[in-house]
Amino acid sequence: MIEEPKPPEYRVGIGTDIHRLVADRRLMLGGVYIPFPAGLLGHSDGDVALHAVTDALLGAAGLGDIGTLFPDNDPQWKDADSKEFLYAVKELLDKKGWEIVNVDLTIHTEQPKLGPIKGQIQRCIAGLLAIDFTAANVKAKTNEGMGEVGAGEAMAATAIALLRKKYKRTL
Ligand code: MG
Repeated sequence: MIEEPKPPEYRVGIGTDIHRLVADRRLMLGGVYIPFPAGLLGHSDGDVALHAVTDALLGAAGLGDIGTLFPDNDPQWKDADSKEFLYAVKELLDKKGWEIVNVDLTIHTEQPKLGPIKGQIQRCIAGLLAIDFTAANVKAKTNEGMGEVGAGEAMAATAIALLRKKYKRTL
């Protein structure tokens, strides 16, 4: 007798992050270096966009959060390239049998204008996660001058991710 195929199992996760913008620090955003007079403060490179995507993926897989996996008091991650975090989580998802359906990221910042850079960030995330370019959407918004983001004192990011469980073919 042939077993009924199991319905695909999907999981969704959300990730949010905020980092201070400080003068004279390299700005790494979405894995891309952006020439700008200020950068994101953090134990790692402070890449708020990749942190949000990483947390969305971990959340979807029920694997906790970025701070637990890569503690910000661990000297190993001092000034770490956040692409390493995202790639390590992608490998973890592979091991656990999760396939990434898509991620959608919104970056909240007044400056710099991300219009010309969004495509680069999208390519970087799609490449790291080995998903189609269209499955790694990147959006940018200002905060209309309000709050810390509006004052240019911080950048924030929100991301959502959808995972599908990979089943072994039995036939
Ligand atoms: Mg962070």
